[in-house]
Amino acid sequence: MATAEQYRNQASSLSYRNQAFIGGKYVPAASGETFDCVSPIDGAVLTSVASCDKEDVDAAVKAARAAFESGVWSEMDPRDRKQALLRFAAAIADHREELALLETLDMGKPITFAQSVDIDGVVSTVQWYAEAIDKIYDEIAPTGRDAIGMITREPLGVVATVVPWNFPLLMGAWKFGPALAAGNSIIMKPAEQSPLSALRLAEIAAEAGIPDGVFNVVPGFGEKAGQALGLHMDVDMVAFTGSTEVGKYFLKYAADSNMKHISLECGGKTPNIVFNDCKDLDAAAMGSGMGVFFNTGQVCVASTRLLVQEDIHDEFVEKVKKVAETMQPGDPLDPATLMGSMVDVDQMERVKSYIEIGEKEGASLVQGGKQVRQNTGGAYVEPTIFDKVDNSMRIAQEEIFGPVLSTITFRDEEEAVRIANDTIYGLQACLWTDDLNRAHKVARRLKAGTVNVNDTDGGDITVPFGGYKQSGIGRDKSLHAYDKYTQLKTTYIKLS
Ligand code: NAD
Repeated sequence: MATAEQYRNQASSLSYRNQAFIGGKYVPAASGETFDCVSPIDGAVLTSVASCDKEDVDAAVKAARAAFESGVWSEMDPRDRKQALLRFAAAIADHREELALLETLDMGKPITFAQSVDIDGVVSTVQWYAEAIDKIYDEIAPTGRDAIGMITREPLGVVATVVPWNFPLLMGAWKFGPALAAGNSIIMKPAEQSPLSALRLAEIAAEAGIPDGVFNVVPGFGEKAGQALGLHMDVDMVAFTGSTEVGKYFLKYAADSNMKHISLECGGKTPNIVFNDCKDLDAAAMGSGMGVFFNTGQVCVASTRLLVQEDIHDEFVEKVKKVAETMQPGDPLDPATLMGSMVDVDQMERVKSYIEIGEKEGASLVQGGKQVRQNTGGAYVEPTIFDKVDNSMRIAQEEIFGPVLSTITFRDEEEAVRIANDTIYGLQACLWTDDLNRAHKVARRLKAGTVNVNDTDGGDITVPFGGYKQSGIGRDKSLHAYDKYTQLKTTYIKLS
């Protein structure tokens, strides 16, 4: 890896793509409007980005539809589409450092993780779906001998992906990977806080041979570009990742327009249960700390509610505090930094306000709680730990999306499960135990799309990811996600 100094030099010579990418070309917003793209590392304006609106969305949908109907991608032989996507994945890998730098500058995550988690994750996602393309078979139904019932998957058509800023490209890749593999044309709407990597990626896609109109990017605000995609009569699906509040808007948009397919990956409030029979409390403390402070807590599955069994409470909280001490915010461009900045000043202020709420609610602030590195002009908050939290408090119920841990004590398994499930969310739950029976029994009772046992971050591209309850509808990753971007056609042939 390069040094912080080298990354700073690379950053100063970067040229940013700041226009929409529609039909294979960069174009300004039809209105000519732009918005400033501000780095949370130091408050610097990186560039001004096209602020797309309905007219730009119309143009992108037209380009995506024309490409889809032409068959240039949707009807390409599976083995050729596979090769094109493998070339795309290889091209992304070739631009690993540049794309990671864009993520770091744009949203403040440490450069080390931007490379190893974000960009490497994008590459492996695109590769995985590319490799799947020519291995997925359709079906013949078990009809009687007088008929053949063929069940075939077809691409949906124009798929919009509306994504958040915490893993700007990776959240997109979990959607455009399978959507492209299935033969759809896509329109990506990155979050207004982090548009730069998606805009650059569009060009990389074109250079790798993804046909014009198949991969479009419309940067802009949610209430404009996002809403226009949601309400568009010729968008067949919106695959959304973001807050539960905005996810619900998309259900309304679909109802008010063309009943488009909607998949939602929304918020979470992960319970992380540590039982007293867990032998390796150091590993559990490391997992608990990383689980909540990684990516500055801006993670939908962040294990924000630490449920500790009462007899190990004191010892365990001390261990987690030590992990937090090693994760103090630093320069995101320094490869040694484990925690960077918040995505922007608004998010930092939101986190600070929740820290105040926690204190007012009577929780005990035992670590952190302050804004730091003010002299940089950036948005940095210390890893923060509350103890003596009651699960009914707002800091235990609401998604803070920052480095704030709420510690809750429980007596026994029954109480742990009750508290864990007492939330509107159900994205992930974690538990630490050395008792195999307990692991299985408790995992079954936790209402979450993913249950991690003796980990807070388990799972890979082979397993589905998504939420129970108000954490969403549908799943990303795995072949279940591939199916989401297809519709089933029955062709029933009568044999005489
Ligand atoms: P957000 O909901 O504010 O924004 C997400 C996207 O929706 C952005 O592109 C935004 O521009 C767009 N948007 C905002 N308002 C809109 C509107 N009125 N109409 C249409 N589009 C609109 O979320 P965020 O602040 O970018 O990200 C944080 C949220 O994302 C958290 O709640 C987090 O839990 C969630 N998230 C979930 C997952 C998951 O897989 N479940 C992953 C990452 C983040």
